[in-house]
Amino acid sequence: MLEVSDLHVSYGAVEAVRGISLSVTPGRVTLVLGANGAGKTTTLRGICGLLPIRRGVVTLDSNQIGGMSPHRIVRRGMVLVPEGRRVFAPLSVLENLRLGAYTAPRSQFDADLARVFELFPILSDRRSSAAGLLSGGEQQMLAFGRGMMSQPRVMLMDEPSMGLAPAMVDSVLNSVRQIADSGMGVLIVEQNADVGLEAADDVVVVARGEVVFSGPADVARSHSSVVRAFLGEAALAETQPRAEGR
Ligand code: ATP
Repeated sequence: MLEVSDLHVSYGAVEAVRGISLSVTPGRVTLVLGANGAGKTTTLRGICGLLPIRRGVVTLDSNQIGGMSPHRIVRRGMVLVPEGRRVFAPLSVLENLRLGAYTAPRSQFDADLARVFELFPILSDRRSSAAGLLSGGEQQMLAFGRGMMSQPRVMLMDEPSMGLAPAMVDSVLNSVRQIADSGMGVLIVEQNADVGLEAADDVVVVARGEVVFSGPADVARSHSSVVRAFLGEAALAETQPRAEGR
């Protein structure tokens, strides 16, 4: 459904993404894994129209979307859940969800809301609370829910585990899985290999703006040397015991 081919994105003269290719399919989670500064966020921002693409092709269901404005891309069926969640703290949970629905037909609001509440019952319980009063994990679920209200077929998630307590990370990963199981294609970016590989079906490892490994998550899990080579020793220390355990 989402195909990215030879993507190049630059900040002025600095080419931060240099020929990245990846794909996202319905019901599966594609993980973009890379160290700090590898170009993960830049890749996401290029794909969803927040940064201009210097070269490459981005198609959604075979239609070219590369270079379109972000809101047109949302209307085409792809939404970004940004790093740091960015919920509107003073607004209620329900108001945040309503904002996510601005591109969707009004007639479908109730059904879309019911779908979000079914997946995240805590959001239904807290629907009148200010979003800023939710825990970090609950805010992440709200960010997912807000994205879902635009009726996407593909969701891009930028480091959803960032800054969360370990128990909350598990619950957020569960949510990522459930979203994919509902038939959506998911592209998730992580720098923590341990966390990312937990949720992924397919993996793209990025270093210095280029793809250095691309393949099934099972292969990445069982070849921790791939992760060692490109993410560095700190990531390996977290990844190796888990990879050996599988
Ligand atoms: P992180 O996990 O730290 O966000 P990342 O893999 O998402 O890392 P990017 O944020 O995409 O990496 O950054 C890729 C490269 O582009 C880095 O070298 C970074 O310094 C550079 N970069 C990022 N944003 C800008 C900017 N606004 N202007 C210039 N260079 C930038």
